Amino acid sequence: MANLSQTDIKYLPGVGPKKAEILNKELGIYSVEDLLYYFPYKYIDRSRIYYIHEIDGNMPYIQLKGRITAFESAGEGRNKRLIAHFTDGTGFIDLVWFQGARFMQDKYKVNNQYLVFGKPTLFGKKFNIAHPDIDPYIDGSQDNMGLMGYYNTSEKMKKHYLNSKALQKIISSAFSSVHSQIAETLPDYVIRDANLMDLKSALRNIHSPENPALLRQAQYRLKFEELFYIQLNILRYTKNRNKSIKGHIFRQVGDIFNTFYHKNLPFELTNAQKRIIKEVRQDMATGKQMNRLLQGDVGSGKTLVALMLMLIALDNGFQASMMVPTEILATQHFQSISELLFGMDVRVELLTGSTKKSARTKILSDLLTGEVDILIGTHALIEDTVVFDNLGLVVIDEQHRFGVAQRAKLWRKNSIPPHILVMTATPIPRTLAMTVYGDLDVSVIDELPPGRKPIQTIHQFDKRRAALYQSVRKQLQEGRQVYFVYPLIEESETLDLRNLEEGFEHIKEVFPDYKVCKVHGKMKPKDKDAEMQLFVNNEAQIMVATTVIEVGVNVPNASVMVIESAQRFGLSQLHQLRGRVGRGADQSFCILITPYELSAETKKRISIMVESNDGFEIAEADLKLRGPGDLEGTQQSGVAFNLKIANIVRDGDILQYAREVAAKIIESDENLEYPNNQILKIQLKKLSASNVNWGLIS
Ligand code: ADP
Ligand code: MG
Repeated sequence: MANLSQTDIKYLPGVGPKKAEILNKELGIYSVEDLLYYFPYKYIDRSRIYYIHEIDGNMPYIQLKGRITAFESAGEGRNKRLIAHFTDGTGFIDLVWFQGARFMQDKYKVNNQYLVFGKPTLFGKKFNIAHPDIDPYIDGSQDNMGLMGYYNTSEKMKKHYLNSKALQKIISSAFSSVHSQIAETLPDYVIRDANLMDLKSALRNIHSPENPALLRQAQYRLKFEELFYIQLNILRYTKNRNKSIKGHIFRQVGDIFNTFYHKNLPFELTNAQKRIIKEVRQDMATGKQMNRLLQGDVGSGKTLVALMLMLIALDNGFQASMMVPTEILATQHFQSISELLFGMDVRVELLTGSTKKSARTKILSDLLTGEVDILIGTHALIEDTVVFDNLGLVVIDEQHRFGVAQRAKLWRKNSIPPHILVMTATPIPRTLAMTVYGDLDVSVIDELPPGRKPIQTIHQFDKRRAALYQSVRKQLQEGRQVYFVYPLIEESETLDLRNLEEGFEHIKEVFPDYKVCKVHGKMKPKDKDAEMQLFVNNEAQIMVATTVIEVGVNVPNASVMVIESAQRFGLSQLHQLRGRVGRGADQSFCILITPYELSAETKKRISIMVESNDGFEIAEADLKLRGPGDLEGTQQSGVAFNLKIANIVRDGDILQYAREVAAKIIESDENLEYPNNQILKIQLKKLSASNVNWGLIS
């Protein structure tokens, strides 16, 4: 359809330069092709005409045929309205306008036949339809108008008479005048094998479906195509990358790993940990560059796995690095890894934004000479000044905090790019992972270390604080530690911080016999660390914090997590927070505090948290409730946003199938050289030039 993507809409009948400009600005529609791919967001059934006597209380939008018997003005002030009494011989209904009375009264004539379209609502004892759509009834041809598409339009468009109906007209006449130029965008054999509707029919039926069955076929075809090209692009990219980029070959597991395994490892690895280490080891020995996603619920022991893999890198003469999203976490990883490596000849360093200049200079120069073996840090690691002697493996913890572009920057830290292991505790639902992280191999730790008791989650209304404090006190008396977490949402930052400060003062009053510490993101790193250390060393028993503690912090003696205003957090975030407790052998608790009045959706979210401890289940539920746009990770890809018709949550099956079809094609013709695949090449090229940012996916 190359020609249609070049044809300006202003030359279409009924458009012209003025309307074209509005469509450009408001909807980003420039070409005829853009217009044909602007799909309705809903459909209304105009395939039958109802009788007035059939109307009951629960009708959707319906269509009636009849005549106006009289107009009447009623009400005063804001309630002033125009009523048209309408009948079809089976009963009466009122058509009502609160605005534009003059205009309506001029436009519609008593005793003419009209088709009236709208939603009947009961007003007093009578049904009426407010602001109906009205068309003159001409003949039987209108008796079945099929399904009518409704298009999103803006206020500005409406002002210029570009409402949904006008748009429908423009699109429909555009389709009539160009349909002979619409060229298929999928190979014939794909259409045949996948049993798809052809493009021309799909475009006709997506705008003006004759019946629901045809609409479904059109939607399926267009969704399939959209997802198929994303998958084709990802798979082709991955295949090329694997061919063109060489990876380090880690041949051996040597002294460092073995010494650690036999002398330092404080506990038996879980089977899942063993399996992952084996899997990744194999991956790093093949000669291709590893790009792997390691998913494992909070507390599943990812850090240890990461450390052991880094030791394999050292055994093969390389350096390794671990990048994490926050300073607190970097510091903690640095400490726990240093402890784990106690007595071994491995040099570990920490580099963050607050590393002193002199220390920094030393670290950087020792990094360059290869004296530093493992570098742990925040995104400060990405900076160009950080140069390694020979970087073999990068571990990225909690990937969802890093942009994909940042990941790519790491590849360039070495002439042969390092192996990359991305770890996340926010499980990414399968369908989303296939789109957003479609180029990564995936490993899953599906087992927690033994002896953990599942965390008990309790929902409590904020009025019942006294009881809450009593149970918290009991835990404190038993020697446990407690977190109180307050939301910190950017839009109301000052207010939130005040809540945190007030909460801090309040908690100190309630528990005068315990030491309370405080951490939030606006503190100086030095102060933050000092407070954090108080809690880690059990010098403070209560920590009041914002979500800065969400990621990774590990204090096994902490057994209670109280989350204030829990309704303001996302599900995955709550799950992450909850994961801060339940790390020792004691029974742990997570208490979600909310006000009494909650929306239905919030109630649902809280009850999911109370019922489930399974991060995957929670992530799926979160995705369903919030939609992909809000999920962390999707922003970075942009893909989930740019989908015109497919929905990666609801259309998971189509996505899976589209990926299979794409994989088969790449398998047999990876460069898309067969004549019947030329169309794929052309489409991919076109899509890469469009607004979908393909570069970010990979
Ligand atoms: P996460 O996967 O959330 O990053 P961590 O790596 O922080 O989890 O591990 C959580 C806790 O479990 C840590 O205290 C760690 O020392 C401990 N741990 C890890 N592996 C094991 C194991 N195999 N057996 C017992 N405890 C383990
Ligand atoms: Mg972790």
